[in-house]
Amino acid sequence: MTMKIRKNDTVLVIAGKDRGKRGKVRFAYPKDERIMVEGINFIKTHSRARRGARQAGIIEREAPIHVSNVILLCSQCDHPARIGFRNLEDGRKVRICRSCGEIID
Ligand SMILES: [Zn+2]
Repeated sequence: MTMKIRKNDTVLVIAGKDRGKRGKVRFAYPKDERIMVEGINFIKTHSRARRGARQAGIIEREAPIHVSNVILLCSQCDHPARIGFRNLEDGRKVRICRSCGEIID
């Protein structure tokens, strides 16, 4: 199965504490169906002072969230997009926005 969300997409968070926020996908982990989104899902982690570590104590960093918690925002019409797929003549499979009909890739 092809994951609909990819790196550099802009997504809208629809569940969890960051609901309503939007951000750009930094990394996608298709195997886990998870994505890392800029500015979304900050978690606090404790880090020990150790040689080479830039920072000790509590640091906040982004953690991956499940793709079902977000929807893709169409890069063309900026609406939450229902995604379709279309096969181009050159064999590429591209995503299309069912709202405006434009190719998202
Ligand atoms: Zn669109």
